[in-house]
Amino acid sequence: MVENDEIYEELRKNIREFVGRKVEPIAKKMDMQDYFPESVFREMGKMGYLGITVGEEFGGADLGYLGQAVIEEELGYSSPSLALSYGAHSNLTLDNLYRNGNGEQRELFVPKLVSGEWIGSLGLTEPQSGSDALNMKTNALKEGDNYIINGSKTYITNAPYADLFLTYCKTGKEHSAFIILADDEGFSRGRKFDKMGMRGSPTGEIYFQNVKVSEKRLLGRENHGKHIILSGLNSERAILSFIFVGLARRSLEEAIKYSVERKQFGESLYRFEMIQDKLATMYTRYKASKLLAYDSIKHLKNNNVDMKAAAASILYSAQVSEYISRECIQIFGGAGYMHDTGIDRLMRDAILGQIGAGTTEIRKKLISGSLIKDFREGRIID
Ligand SMILES: Cc1cc2nc3c(=O)[nH]c(=O)nc-3n(C[C@H](O)[C@H](O)[C@H](O)COP(=O)(O)OP(=O)(O)OC[C@H]3O[C@@H](n4cnc5c(N)ncnc54)[C@H](O)[C@@H]3O)c2cc1C
Repeated sequence: MVENDEIYEELRKNIREFVGRKVEPIAKKMDMQDYFPESVFREMGKMGYLGITVGEEFGGADLGYLGQAVIEEELGYSSPSLALSYGAHSNLTLDNLYRNGNGEQRELFVPKLVSGEWIGSLGLTEPQSGSDALNMKTNALKEGDNYIINGSKTYITNAPYADLFLTYCKTGKEHSAFIILADDEGFSRGRKFDKMGMRGSPTGEIYFQNVKVSEKRLLGRENHGKHIILSGLNSERAILSFIFVGLARRSLEEAIKYSVERKQFGESLYRFEMIQDKLATMYTRYKASKLLAYDSIKHLKNNNVDMKAAAASILYSAQVSEYISRECIQIFGGAGYMHDTGIDRLMRDAILGQIGAGTTEIRKKLISGSLIKDFREGRIID
């Protein structure tokens, strides 16, 4: 992978142009009609965005997590829900499969996900196990050269459209990861959820009833799924942070523009000190969350197993985007409360930030646990 600032600047320019042309015009429709723009999503494969972390030998762009972060930030600016679906496909599923798959699995599945021919989805959460994710019930039983899988997953991003599901199962007392295809016998989709935000990013249930898969579909080693789950969640937290960095920037820009255009008492809103205070605080928090997010990418790249950088990044960027999008509505006054302006969408989308990829509470638990461990082991906090 080549590290070169110019390459990332070029990538940002290109994704911005793509988002302006293809995503911005449909962002409102996605929200109001819960519309998933399948053709735009698949086009991102042709543009090289879906396989941004994948090596060139499998059709990827090989631009690593920094490239994925830039794409998430720019998608998040225009459509956080498309950014969420992108993250579920490109990071949670494809990058995970690429990192942990053997040669044959990479050859069989990676190019299809890179090109957008297939849509990917990751199944961890179950009805009884959300935050307590390792307490899943879905299980895979070894039978000769095959595994028989039974169970279900819920709140799964892209599930209503996906062709491939990276699925975590119990194998005895341990965990293992499997590749399950939508046309495997015994696989079925349940309902698609109607959500308060992130509309247009399809979320659904999936079921496995005696799904028989060859042992060739086991990702990594049997009983070593816990490492795949935890390292995947770490990468997911760092990358999804950028959705909320982009969302915060959009909210701030909308607020600045409106405060210049809107006049009350014969003055533009920005002339009032209380509005100036809001804008300054919004900018400062936005900037801090962005710096924290880019810092978490450095930790990912160094293959750092310490999970606090990514947890802190998404903890803060999610809270900040919620705060800034709320302040944006306040600056818009009544207009911000109307669907017409589309400002309400930013706040509804921001709320997912504190729930998905492990909740705010779980992130705090992880960070504090890691701090105590550092203290006990005599490490300096960086
Ligand atoms: C739009 C959307 C998309 C999603 N996409 C996916 C996906 O693609 N794949 C996937 O596998 N999952 C996905 N999820 C699921 C998501 O990861 C879970 O919703 C999340 O982990 C929380 O689990 P839960 O909803 O069961 O809440 P619960 O775990 O039931 O938590 C309820 C509340 O209790 C708190 N809580 C729980 N345990 C503790 C504790 N020990 N200490 C303090 N507080 C605690 C939580 O923080 C929360 O506030 C998605 C969810 C949403 C809403």
